[in-house]
Amino acid sequence: MSVRRSPHVRLSDGNGGRFMRVLIEDVFARRFGRGELDTSLDATPVDLPHGIVCVTTDGFSVEPLEFPGGDIGSLAVNGTVNDLAVSGARPHCLTLAAIIEEGFEIARLERIADSVGAAARAAGVRIVAGDTKVVPRGHGGGVYLTTTGIGVRKPELSLGLARIRAGDKILVSGTLGDHGAAVMLARQAFDLMGTIVSDCASVLALTDAAIDVAGLRFMRDPTRGGLATVANEIVLATGLGVRLSEDAMPVRDAVRSVCDILGFDPYYLACEGRVAAVVAAEAADDLLCRWRKLPDGCGSAIVGEITDAQSLVVLETSAGGERMLEELEDDPMPRIC
Ligand code: MG
Repeated sequence: MSVRRSPHVRLSDGNGGRFMRVLIEDVFARRFGRGELDTSLDATPVDLPHGIVCVTTDGFSVEPLEFPGGDIGSLAVNGTVNDLAVSGARPHCLTLAAIIEEGFEIARLERIADSVGAAARAAGVRIVAGDTKVVPRGHGGGVYLTTTGIGVRKPELSLGLARIRAGDKILVSGTLGDHGAAVMLARQAFDLMGTIVSDCASVLALTDAAIDVAGLRFMRDPTRGGLATVANEIVLATGLGVRLSEDAMPVRDAVRSVCDILGFDPYYLACEGRVAAVVAAEAADDLLCRWRKLPDGCGSAIVGEITDAQSLVVLETSAGGERMLEELEDDPMPRIC
């Protein structure tokens, strides 16, 4: 039965009735692929291959919802896929919950749903369950998304902070801070806007290439808080030191310029399509070579090493000095993801 559509989301679109069914079918389900959202059961049965089941969940509240290189939809899917990928798991399926503010433009919601569908197809994951809520005008930031991802890891794979040793090398798969800088510029109407594009993407090709490198210890996606935060996590968990080289760090000139102007440090800016990996020293060139063969890894670099000196993150500056990269205390850029 046809239902009158409004160009904007109404409270009645989240009331559990016919309007909500139509919103889910028209805006979400058909964009996620035929038969993806099976509504015949309250819970979707999922067939998973043999292995260790890995689960991750994340909420997304990025402001603005759309930015150069992505939007909240691609960010939600890739963010969840990437958390599974860097844990060594093959992502299989996702759930998606949307909290939408009354009055939100349907056309915009459709663009975001298109983006969710495209990112899920690109990463080879199915969206198997979802939920929609509408909150009154003024009670939400347009759209918030929450995703839960389920993946499977081979039982014999062993990765983690506890495997890191002094002498190991740290690699990054590409330029740092592109996402953080792109969102920051999109938020403020600077003339610089549009010169920087978010790196928002699945890292599956990169983690697939890394997973069977002998000597791979640990991988993480340097999202909120950037590489400096990953380095501090390593120091906190291991008691070892991290030494990074500013000269080796891949940062776009445009990102450096924006950071100089606005007083940000690129090493704390979020990436959404990069991997930071720790590998045994003798395996570093092997991983670098594998990554550089990939389109998403052509900017990869060995940027530092693990030391048994002080439990600190030290940056060797281009000028020949040293400075500490300390753990973030305040979030310099809220709602970046
Ligand atoms: Mg992560």
